[in-house]
Amino acid sequence: MLSFDQARQLVIGQSKTHTGSRPTISLPVSDALGHVLAQDIRTDREYPPFDRSTRDGYAVRASEATQGATLRCMGEIKAGDSVTEALSPGTCIQIMTGAAVPSGADAVVMIEFTRREGDTVTFDRQTQPGQNIVSRGSEARAGDLALAVGLRLGFAELAVAAQVGAASLCCYKKPRVAILSTGDEVVPITETPGPFHIRNSNSVSLAAQIRLGGGEPVSLGNALDRVDDLSAKIEQGLREDILVLSGGVSMGKYDLVESVLKGLGAEFFFDAVAIRPGKPTVFGRCRGALVFGLPGNPVSTMVTFQLFAIPAIDILNGAEPRPLPFLEATLTESLREKPGLTHFLPARLDWSGSAPHVHALRWQGSGDIAALTRANCFLMVPADHPDISAGEKVSVLPRSDVL
Ligand code: AMP
Ligand code: MG
Repeated sequence: MLSFDQARQLVIGQSKTHTGSRPTISLPVSDALGHVLAQDIRTDREYPPFDRSTRDGYAVRASEATQGATLRCMGEIKAGDSVTEALSPGTCIQIMTGAAVPSGADAVVMIEFTRREGDTVTFDRQTQPGQNIVSRGSEARAGDLALAVGLRLGFAELAVAAQVGAASLCCYKKPRVAILSTGDEVVPITETPGPFHIRNSNSVSLAAQIRLGGGEPVSLGNALDRVDDLSAKIEQGLREDILVLSGGVSMGKYDLVESVLKGLGAEFFFDAVAIRPGKPTVFGRCRGALVFGLPGNPVSTMVTFQLFAIPAIDILNGAEPRPLPFLEATLTESLREKPGLTHFLPARLDWSGSAPHVHALRWQGSGDIAALTRANCFLMVPADHPDISAGEKVSVLPRSDVL
């Protein structure tokens, strides 16, 4: 059976060979958060565009503003003032943060290290050339590549786009991800469930995970555990870039997802991974769509989506797949799990005290969503080290939505 890492590598490899056209969309910069850039953005001018003072103080010639020296102050320069005159020898000028340093000056002395009497200024310290000035063009040159195709747009990237005047950005359209839950017991959340029914929470969590991951969720509701209904709804889902199914992939008599997919011509890359929860996870391709069949127990659905579906969304988005952001922490309560499978247990990571530490939460197994709301991470118990003592270091996978 594949390890979760091998399974992820298969997802990454297959997603990269996915040959759909990748449509683009032009978005105002303020709406582009989480999109992936489909164009290069170049810097429009020098940054900073002028020699910029980083402090409130006095612009000087460093060689003149020695400790104890006194210079005559010739006026002031505010941020936004146009500066055309050079600083005359033997003088200084008051300057504000963000203002342009006049030619002739080569340092700014912080106001805290000066004394002002009338129009003379005395300097308390030695002055170093270049201090408190960021010189023109030192952050970026006109024409430099500011943001490259394939970059995921976070707040800093959006700020750079704004800085260089790229008010709208050509981005890849997010991949459309169809969600189809399965099960005769599953009812829409707007209905009152019968005594043996359960509400369709997986479609809700999957839509949230798809959005967080950078995809566009397309909800197809629920299919009954019957070949005709499953077949019709799966065919509908195959029109999107990715189809994610929940339930119906285990060994039960009514777990029909894999056989229905096969009947529709699917090619499978794996149908089991050595993890718990999530062992019967299925990944394949059918009629040009990537297909994930995730086990229906809600925590299994969430874990397997995070492990396997996110890299496919990244790649179909035009970006590199994000690595799993494991953190290291000290285990505070010993653990014993079944060997042979890598476990992902709902756990609580905290930073009180000197170093991050973590403990697994008590839970009723992979149907227990309530336990997951108390968790901020999954604690990974390796397949070959299922017996872990308190005090040992473990790897934890943060819940991408809350940490
Ligand atoms: P399955 O993978 O179909 O064997 O389902 C495993 C468990 O997950 C069963 O207890 C199901 O009732 C539950 N389950 C399946 N689909 C959903 C869903 N959409 N929302 C919540 N629970 C589900
Ligand atoms: Mg089922």
